[in-house]
Amino acid sequence: MFTLHGNGVGAGIAIGRARIIHRPGQEIPKYNIEPEQIDQEVTRLADGIESAIRALQTIKQQIPAEGAEEVNAILDAHLLMLQDPMLSQEPSSIIRAQGINAETALQQHADHLEKMFNDIDDPYLSSKSADVAQIINRIQGELLDEQGSLTAQPEGKFDDQIIIANDLTPADTIELTKHRIGAFITNLGGPISHTAILARSMKIPAIVGLHGAIRYLHNGDLLIIDGKRGVVLVNPDEAALITYRRRREKIVSRIQEMDALLNAAAETLDGVSVSLNANIGLPEEILESVAQNAAGVGLYRTEFLYMNRETMPDEEEQYEVYSHVLKQSATPVTIRTLDLGADKQVDGGRVSDTITTNPALGRRAIRLCLHDLSLFKPQLRAVYRASVHGETRLMIPMMSNIDELDQLFVLLDEVQQELTSQGYDFDPDIPIGGMVEVPAAAISADLFADKLDFLSIGTNDLIQYTLAIDRIDDEVNYLYNPLHPSILRLIKITIDAGKAANIPVSMCGEMAGNVEYTRVLLGMGLRDFSMDPSALLEVKRQIRLTDTAKIEPKVNMLLKTADQKVVKQLISEINE
Ligand code: PEP
Ligand code: MG
Repeated sequence: MFTLHGNGVGAGIAIGRARIIHRPGQEIPKYNIEPEQIDQEVTRLADGIESAIRALQTIKQQIPAEGAEEVNAILDAHLLMLQDPMLSQEPSSIIRAQGINAETALQQHADHLEKMFNDIDDPYLSSKSADVAQIINRIQGELLDEQGSLTAQPEGKFDDQIIIANDLTPADTIELTKHRIGAFITNLGGPISHTAILARSMKIPAIVGLHGAIRYLHNGDLLIIDGKRGVVLVNPDEAALITYRRRREKIVSRIQEMDALLNAAAETLDGVSVSLNANIGLPEEILESVAQNAAGVGLYRTEFLYMNRETMPDEEEQYEVYSHVLKQSATPVTIRTLDLGADKQVDGGRVSDTITTNPALGRRAIRLCLHDLSLFKPQLRAVYRASVHGETRLMIPMMSNIDELDQLFVLLDEVQQELTSQGYDFDPDIPIGGMVEVPAAAISADLFADKLDFLSIGTNDLIQYTLAIDRIDDEVNYLYNPLHPSILRLIKITIDAGKAANIPVSMCGEMAGNVEYTRVLLGMGLRDFSMDPSALLEVKRQIRLTDTAKIEPKVNMLLKTADQKVVKQLISEINE
């Protein structure tokens, strides 16, 4: 048994077997094989070669007759190489002699062959080394289960499977929901990346930024994942299994205890009433928001509807989905317009073609939408049309320029006129709000507040842009600090601007769902929170234990200090 550490996501505990999802071009795992498992490893190599042969034969059958001759000749040559017993003999000897895994042995053999070819002073023969490399890659792909990607797996329940990957995109993570896996671990990634946010909302414990996960973990390893502590126990002994099974039961009973708060008011000890809303990403999550008695949906991330598909959802499809969400909710739903770009690419769609040098600072979110009206207008039309099915609010992500709002309002007028002339019913008074996620918007929040019906603070991006730390880069994750004085001040400026303009200010970044910050935010005057539904009751509990009058002076001191020791002391006093 040994332990590995990364950034934990989600409070849960999962116990299951490792399943490595390998992508072509990734680092090949290297590990030792126990003497009694050597024969099995040699057989695994032979099976890998067999599978590569079968895969190539299938390809051969599928090629169209036209022009097949040359292609067939190449495939036949590759098949001959694969079927040559020499190909498995040397790597098998390496496995036996060095006690290492099949992939590493095969790679050693491949490196040796490549060197031999390169040393031949004949351009035709040395060009053949490319064929050998292709053959070896094909076998590596079979050994590493590259074909066994999640999409290739039937849908179903795999809660005893712990997926290990170098990295997962938000689109991959959505794919995981269909398979209801137990947990996932990635080499890369930060805890406020969209991948991590999705894991939280799916209630899957995860560990991100665990460098070496691919290297140290093997298919079939028994793992315990502690999402809260960011710890992985590899091949745990019986005592650890017993301890963690107990902990898992405790977490489940804590969730049940919390249910007692479902119908309690979100009100502080001194009678301050707070609105607690849910963040949702997938339409079906509306049920979780309703189940947790949320005051409404403070953030519906619509971009996930655009992922894992070949074509964009059209107006009709969006209308159906938004209508469905609104019908399920008796309370307001804040539909955020598309926030594609940066780490949220659609995979296979047209937006992925436009990756710029720094996507987070590029044509993302409202910038992308205003640039591409064929993307934006169908969404706006769908939202207005769906508004007849429930209380709808429209929210714009990543605003940074007042001009963007002016353009938006022209567009909204146009959309409303079109819908009217086409005979559609809609609510013409949908509140229009904007997200404060860029420091420029926070510093000039008063100017934005004058034009909008509400503001919502997106701390995930606000922290990323203010502290200049990429939210998906775990190497700078240590700098992620919601209590940095600049962040607290920007939040305060935004809350005060909302008050002065008499419009509500909400917070929908991850900071809003972390009980450690609930009192600080209440002390700064925040009265509207939106978070993953699973965090709602914990935050409600904290609100009910808070006296805002008592904490306000300490929060004011917090805004004036840069000394992190003093910050720590003040936070512990505020939270005690
Ligand atoms: C945020 O940036 O805080 C936010 C809520 O938006 P997202 O996480 O989707 O970028
Ligand atoms: Mg954001």
